[in-house]
Parts: sequence; C-alpha cells; structure tokens
Amino acid sequence: MLPLLVANWKMHKTKADALAFIDELRRLWPDRPGCEGAIAPPFTALDAVGGALRGTAIALAAQNVHWEEEGAFTGEVAARFLADLGCRYVIVGHSERRSQWGETDEQIARKLQTVLAHGMAPVWCIGESLREREAGRVLEVVGRQLAAGLGAVTPARMPPGRRGPELPLVIAYEPVWAIGTGRIAEPKQVQEVHAAVRQWLRDRLGGAADGVRLLYGGSVTPENVAAMAAQPDVNGALVGGASLDAKQFVLLAQRIARGGASS
Ligand code: PEP
Repeated sequence: MLPLLVANWKMHKTKADALAFIDELRRLWPDRPGCEGAIAPPFTALDAVGGALRGTAIALAAQNVHWEEEGAFTGEVAARFLADLGCRYVIVGHSERRSQWGETDEQIARKLQTVLAHGMAPVWCIGESLREREAGRVLEVVGRQLAAGLGAVTPARMPPGRRGPELPLVIAYEPVWAIGTGRIAEPKQVQEVHAAVRQWLRDRLGGAADGVRLLYGGSVTPENVAAMAAQPDVNGALVGGASLDAKQFVLLAQRIARGGASS
C-alpha cells in the first residue's frame, strides 16, 4: 500500500507563506515519490493551496471539521465546504483539539461519520498521555478511543463505491507526549501499538482492515522517519513542525518511501 505523509501546519503560515511553500514543493516533489503527500494548511489558506496543488499528485487536507451540515455554529466549518474546496483528507480528533477544546470521543465519532459521508477520508488521531503510558495503559486507552469511533467507519457506512480492499480511512497513532516535544516513541513501541490497532480493525472490518493506512505522528523528522517507516504496520506519518519547510517535507517523503520499501 502506498504510504501517506500528511503535513499538519496547525496555526502557521499566511496565504502568501503557504503559496511560497507550494511553489517550492512543486519544484522539488519527485515524479515518482513512492509516497502520497497531503498538506493541511489553516482554513484561511485552504482554497489558495488547493488551487496551487491542482495538477499535482499532492492532496489537500483540512485540520478540523464540524459534524453538522450547516447552521448557527459560529467559527465552525462544515464537511461539505471542505469537499467543495477539493479536500481529500480531514484530520479528526487531534490531541490538541481534545485537550484544548475538550473534544470528546463521541464528537469525534460524529466527525468521522460526516467526513466519510462527504466522500473524504478522515485522518483519525488516537494516542495516550504520558501518565497513561507510564501506568501501562496504552492499549486500553487506544482501544477505548477506537471503540468509540469504529461504529462510524464500518464498511456498511461507507458511501457507495468506496467499499473494498482500500477503505477511505487513515488512523494516526500520536502519543500525546511525543507531539511537538522532540521526544519520539521507539519504533518498536509504535509497531506494537499499530499491530494491536490492525488487529482491532480486522476484528471489526475483516480483510478491509489491511487497506487502512496507519500513520505515526509525534516529533517526526527526516532523521528519524525511516526507522519508523520500516516497521511493518507503519504506513506513513502525520507531521507538524518538520512539515513547515518544503525541503524537509520532500526529504520526509523520500525516506518514508525508502523505509516502507525495505520492510
Ligand atoms: C502533530 O501535530 O500531529 C504532530 C505530530 O506534531 P509534531 O510533528 O510537531 O510533533
């Protein structure tokens, strides 16, 4: 399966900064990268970045979404608006949204459902806190997060034509203690969690689970990404800080492609 590299720019880059990045990226992005790339800019640059990516193989992604179709939800953005701008992916349940905006597993499940219903693929973030890891509760926490959302992503809920060996679903395992801290998880620890996630998905979705891409996220850099991508159940990365520079983003893609190929 083609690995996926998603840039989560968070609250960085004006429209002009974003366009300068895409301009450089278009020049540097290899013809056959061996990895799919996606850029999640702030909402204010989404339309411009989508236009600048047109004609490339790099996908447009959004950082968040609301579950309702429309209405009195000041400051929120509906899934159909994102689909209208050409988004292929939507990040759902990022730990910053869970911790700073109090997003619940139930809200995240509704977001997964609406993203799928609008023909886009959620990049569904799960992961444990440091305290939970130290208490030996990683698989319990991740299992609970998955159980809360998996009802929204059974094959029966996929829109017509989207079922089959490759489900339009991406899961990003992001240990909270590794995000933006410079402290990366050990590749073996990550593989252990990913293998458990894959097994949960198989129990729920059968063979289709093998078409779900499992990304790792948390302090990924070009220096550490290849070892992560070489793990059998790591199918790419969700990257914050290191994705803000076009040269680094291309290096990440090349090393993910190489790591994946050697596994
Ligand atoms: C993220 O925001 O999802 C992330 C993993 O950030 P960073 O790469 O900066 O740790």
